[in-house]
Amino acid sequence: MTDIQAKISLTGGSDFWHTPAIKDAGLPEVMLTDGPHGVRKQTASSDHIGINDSEPATCFPPAVGLASSWNAELLDAVGVALGEECRALGVGVLLGPGMNIKRSPLCGRNFEYFAEDPLVAGELASALVRGIQSQGIGTSVKHFAANNQETDRMRRDSQVDERTLREVYLRGFAKVVTSARPWTIMCSYNKVNGTFASENHFLLTEVLRDEWGFDGFVMSDWGAVHDRVKALKAGLDLEMPAHPAHEEGVRRALAAGDIDEATIEQAYARVERVLRLAVASLTDAPDSFDVDAHHALARRTAEQCIVLLSNDGVLPLAPETRVAVVGEFARTPRYQGAGSSRVNPTRLDNALDAITALVGHEVPFAPGFTTAPGQELAASAHEDAVAAARDADVVLAFLGLGESHESEGYDRDTCDLPAEQLSLLEDILAVNSNVVVVLSNGSSVLLPFAGRVRAVVEGWLLGQAGGPAIADVLYGVVNPSGKITETIPHRLEDVPSFLHFPGDTSGVRYGEGLFVGYRGYDAAGTDVAFPFGHGLSYTSFGYSDLTVSAGDAGLAVALTVTNTGERAGREVVQAYVSVPGSGVVRVPRELKGFAAVTLEPGESRRVAIAVPTDELAYWSVQDHAWVVESGNYTVDVGSSSRDLRACAGVDVTGNEPVRPLSLESTVAEALTVPGFDEVLAPMMTIFGEDPDLVRMMESMPLAALVGFSGQSEDAFQPVLDRLNVASGRA
Ligand code: BGC
Repeated sequence: MTDIQAKISLTGGSDFWHTPAIKDAGLPEVMLTDGPHGVRKQTASSDHIGINDSEPATCFPPAVGLASSWNAELLDAVGVALGEECRALGVGVLLGPGMNIKRSPLCGRNFEYFAEDPLVAGELASALVRGIQSQGIGTSVKHFAANNQETDRMRRDSQVDERTLREVYLRGFAKVVTSARPWTIMCSYNKVNGTFASENHFLLTEVLRDEWGFDGFVMSDWGAVHDRVKALKAGLDLEMPAHPAHEEGVRRALAAGDIDEATIEQAYARVERVLRLAVASLTDAPDSFDVDAHHALARRTAEQCIVLLSNDGVLPLAPETRVAVVGEFARTPRYQGAGSSRVNPTRLDNALDAITALVGHEVPFAPGFTTAPGQELAASAHEDAVAAARDADVVLAFLGLGESHESEGYDRDTCDLPAEQLSLLEDILAVNSNVVVVLSNGSSVLLPFAGRVRAVVEGWLLGQAGGPAIADVLYGVVNPSGKITETIPHRLEDVPSFLHFPGDTSGVRYGEGLFVGYRGYDAAGTDVAFPFGHGLSYTSFGYSDLTVSAGDAGLAVALTVTNTGERAGREVVQAYVSVPGSGVVRVPRELKGFAAVTLEPGESRRVAIAVPTDELAYWSVQDHAWVVESGNYTVDVGSSSRDLRACAGVDVTGNEPVRPLSLESTVAEALTVPGFDEVLAPMMTIFGEDPDLVRMMESMPLAALVGFSGQSEDAFQPVLDRLNVASGRA
């Protein structure tokens, strides 16, 4: 029998990366480690901010890249490989995926997150979780919740109204929990509506367990617990890393009767059950993994993460095109983000070598700028790059953000590319207008030059094998199929959260509400550089024969997609839903489903997209419940959120609760209910019959109309009750 004192020890780590062994229970220590896109197993000095090295492991593209593939099967395969590496390295729980919503492009950690949209984030995070856990290794879906910035992340209060919280910031988490059943969830550092996430009973118990049925354990982000007793009571199970004083606090609280034994037992049982699963998978696990096969998978994955933002036909390049490569990123790739997720790759390929191998000879290269902080280049570096560009048929300019520009722990204060790179590009354009820009960045940058260069390739961060993937896209060995999952704005000021980011010590108010990302740009009609869901191909696709039907399970959307171009290609079809005439605030349209299809030239295929009923629901503040509104919905299918190719309407039968009318109901509301017309008509003549006055009266609560017409509320109440009964509302 394990005694309660031993059980208390399992409510916290034993060191930086381990849970304690519980000898009586025969439970060994288990290693939990970062991170989402590779295994960061530290064996010597430990840290959670990416300083010290770790064992070599495959560095797959971080979430920003993975998301652009919109390919759940691919993420599942990456997950399987991550699970295999965990087993080989003796890691029982991988601390990821991160899936917070990209509320602002400035968030320093956007590279670790999937999208500005909860459906994409939820679907893709689920796939990764399924893949990793298929190997008997746990995941820790993070950072729960409303952790959408790094500024003051350890204490800032995210102030977000409940409808927005549920529909935008929790919806993706709900999908993962209910469909992929992660073994663990990591709570975030920040406060949510006044209470630290680690102590937030609403989040950790009411929503996560009671509503979503989560049956794993909740661990803290590293150092997110302020009071372990409060945290345990709220639903946290494991504080990480070790914190002896907090553990002592639990022992004292138990002795003083400030925490029940049952609360500790419960946390212990949850953690123990999950850790035993990991221990079983690590027993007799192989001690190596297939480094080459995983590198090849990292490359195949990177190919699908690249987004062709613009192209006037200059791409794909012919092997004989005389190119000049400029920009240090071609030689020294920026392939992952900075901070706790930093992986020590098994190898690292760059684009310059890959281009050289592809064309079969050396190509002129000039770094133009340095990406290493504090490093000085020769004074002539800028001019050398311009000179190299002058005589080329096409200049491949590798631009982007260096590690210090975006990182865990702080946000950017601008979306601009570094000034020296912009000035280099201008000087190159002055001598050669045939420029293709290839970007390396973990979150959107402004692209004021996009209309003046011949193509822009968004490479995001592509992991250790991104270099050859970029070369293959540039030369058409691979036909690009990635699509952006975050809008690229023209100006930082256009971002819907601009006025409310990053707040101050009094908190960050999510003032844009539901209008996050494309939802906000579309509502305001703001012109953007590249819309959510955008990405070009070297072929083209036609959309036809859209059909939409509604049933108990939701909407069944089907359409025919035809490859109308000359090359085989993959198209990601997106289905957006709107509810015209809705009785509640709505964004113009929301992504509700997507599917990919790969087609040979001339080939057509029927593509089906199922939109489950749950996806149609909005959070009713009034009913404190998910509600599907009845009405005629519009379904738009398209190649991006602003390239909608076909549209259909469909009647949806909702599940709105029937609410009895009260004295607070308005005249207009009452007039929609049979029987009220007759009763209200004489009362509405009090101010005459001028249509404008009638309109004014329609917005009055019944109580006001009753008062103005000289009646008493007490006398009217029985009439109201009778009509409610007669109309089936009470
Ligand atoms: C990060 C987590 C990470 C943890 C452990 C924290 O700083 O926010 O995402 O898993 O450190 O490294």
